[in-house]
Amino acid sequence: MRGLKDKVVIVTGAGRGIGRATAERFAEEGAVVVAADLDEAGVREVADALQARGLRAHAARLDVADREGARAFVAAVEAEHGRIDVLVNNAGILADATLAKLTDEQFERVLRVNLQGTFVMAQEVAARMKPRKAGAIINASSVVALYGNFGQTNYVASKAGVIGMTRVWARELGKDGIRVNAVAPGFVETDMTRQIPPKVTEMLVAKVPLQRMAQASELASVYAFLASDDASYITGAVISVDGGVVM
Ligand code: NAP
Repeated sequence: MRGLKDKVVIVTGAGRGIGRATAERFAEEGAVVVAADLDEAGVREVADALQARGLRAHAARLDVADREGARAFVAAVEAEHGRIDVLVNNAGILADATLAKLTDEQFERVLRVNLQGTFVMAQEVAARMKPRKAGAIINASSVVALYGNFGQTNYVASKAGVIGMTRVWARELGKDGIRVNAVAPGFVETDMTRQIPPKVTEMLVAKVPLQRMAQASELASVYAFLASDDASYITGAVISVDGGVVM
């Protein structure tokens, strides 16, 4: 993809799943990847595997919901690599329960990581992109933000909020040459969806026009596209990567 070589790219939640595949894809495109995750061992393994292939990747422990930690992390990336070109705001969690059973703690925990963490990282990174008048921020939303989902009040609120923030930031940051987009993945084969009982998985897949789940690499390629010069006139978009579930 055009324009990704030598770009400095932060991917959050890169220890596994879609984040890991995204870190791999950017590194394969010639970018310098900083793979960040709560799970330090996981992200170290990701960076080590990429380095073993001669690709450029670094690992860092990061809690996106911790303002001070995030600020220090972003400052350290800029100090080490000179700039930040791309932020993939991928880290996200679930704590599902029906409206009747959802606790305040579950609600706040999911909003804190998925919504506030996305805000904190975008704010810290955008401040460093602005003076250079260039950058791309891509936020992980979800197909469920577009149609709701049983038992996911907190998760859907957070992912719908991510779409709203994406559109606000696209409007605010366009004049600074910063593009902001969101990806709405459908049903992707990762640890997150392995928690779902097989019977429910079967039912969900039956509703997908492509009749299968996505592979994490199929999300990674869209993140790479949105960050690349091939997407130079795309901002404020929400790209569904869901096998046709929402159309
Ligand atoms: P995953 O397999 O559960 O991986 C998420 C990663 O994020 C984990 O490594 C996790 O670390 C890390 N993480 C959690 N909280 C964090 C925090 N506060 N700071 C930094 N890292 C943190 O998830 P996934 O399935 O790849 O999903 C990635 C993103 O896509 C999420 O935002 C998710 O909501 C979204 N998405 C996924 C699907 C799907 O079908 N899989 C569908 C729609 C949207 P730990 O291992 O330490 O928890």
